[in-house]
Amino acid sequence: MLDKFFSLFSHDIGIDLGTANTLVWVKGKGIVIREPSVLAMHKKTKKIIAIGSEAKKMVGKTPSSIITVSPLRGGVIADFDATSAMISHYIQEVHEVGNILPAAWSHPKVAIGIPSSVTEVERRAVWEAALNAGAREAFLIEEPMAAAIGENVSVFQPTGIMIVDIGGGTTEIAVLSLGGIVVSKSLRLAGLDMDKAIIHYVRLKHGLIMGEATAEDVKIKIGSAYQRNAKVKSQKSKEEEKENLREKMEIVRGRDIETGLPKSLRLTEVEVREALAPVLGEIIEEIAGVLREAPPELTNDILTHGILLTGGGSMLRGLDQLIIERAHIPVVLSEDPLTSVVRGIGKVLEDDKLLERVKVVGGLK
Ligand code: ADP
Ligand code: MG
Repeated sequence: MLDKFFSLFSHDIGIDLGTANTLVWVKGKGIVIREPSVLAMHKKTKKIIAIGSEAKKMVGKTPSSIITVSPLRGGVIADFDATSAMISHYIQEVHEVGNILPAAWSHPKVAIGIPSSVTEVERRAVWEAALNAGAREAFLIEEPMAAAIGENVSVFQPTGIMIVDIGGGTTEIAVLSLGGIVVSKSLRLAGLDMDKAIIHYVRLKHGLIMGEATAEDVKIKIGSAYQRNAKVKSQKSKEEEKENLREKMEIVRGRDIETGLPKSLRLTEVEVREALAPVLGEIIEEIAGVLREAPPELTNDILTHGILLTGGGSMLRGLDQLIIERAHIPVVLSEDPLTSVVRGIGKVLEDDKLLERVKVVGGLK
C-alpha cells in the first residue's frame, strides 16, 4: 500500500555505472543524464567539488589539494564512498529536475547495472549505497544481461548469445542462454588501454609525452583497427571512395621527452593502428577464449548469429572486421553502443516480471 503511495511521487531510476560514463534512465522519460564517471574532491576532507563533466575537465589539471577519482576503475568499485556519493547525487538530481518531492521522501525504485566481475561484497555495497541514497528498493542487474536486453535480443530462448561490451576500463565478454549467464569474463582491458597504448607508442617512436585526454581524442578521430579496403561496397562516386580510402592524420601536442619543451607532431592513422594492434589482439584472444569455454551447442548458435558488439570501444573503426578476420566469427555492431546497458535497464524497470527474472540482488529495504 505504502509502496504504491510513494511511487506516485517518485521516479523509478535506472543507472548504468560505467567505468567511463554514467547514464541515468527515468521511467517514462528515457535517458536523462549522461556524464563521465568522474568525481573531484578535496584530498584531505574528501569533500566533493564536482561530479561528471565538470570533474572530468579537471583531470590532470588539479592543484595538489584536489584529486579526481573514477570510482569504478577497472570495473570494480575502487572507491566506495565516491561511488555512493555519485549514486546519491544522481538520484537527487533526477528528483530536483522532476520538480517533485526530494528523493529522501519519495523513495524511488532504483536499478543499477554492474559488471559481472563485481564481487558479492561489492554488490552488497552498491546495493546499500543506493538504499542509503534514498532508494525504496534497489536492484542490481548484470551488465551483459542488460546490454543484451537493450539490444532487443530475446535472452530467455534456449539459444546461445555472445555479447562483448568494450567500455572504458573493462571489456565484458559473456555467453547468455535461457535468461542466464553461462560463461563470462570481465577483462581489464578496454578503451583506456587503447589510449595508453597510443601514449606508449608515441613516446617510444617520437619521444613525445602526451596526456590521456589527447590520446583518447586521437583514437576517436583517426583510430582504426583494420585497414580500409576498397571491397566495401558503396554507392558513392569514385572521388568519395578515394577520399574514404585515404588514411587520415592528426597533429598532436605534447612534451618532448628530452628537452621537456612543448612539441607537436603529425601522427598518421597507420601509426595509430600499429599502436592499437597489441591491445586489440589481446581482446580478440580473450573473446576466442570465452567462446572455447562455452558448451558446443551454444558455440554453434553464436557462429550462426554472430557476436553482438557494444560499448564505446566498439566504435573503433574496423574493429568488427578485425574480429571477423582473426576469430572467424560474424559480428553484429550495436547502433547505439554507449546506451545499450542503460536502455536494457530501462526496459527492465518498465516490466516487473522481467525485473524479477534478471535481477541479481534486490528487494525491499
Ligand atoms: P563504460 O561502460 O566503461 O563507462 P563506455 O561504453 O561509455 O564505457 O565507453 C567508453 C569508452 O569508449 C572510452 O574509452 C572512449 O574513449 C571510447 N570511445 C568513445 N567513442 C569512441 C570512438 N568513436 N572510437 C573508439 N573509442 C571510442
Ligand atoms: Mg558500460
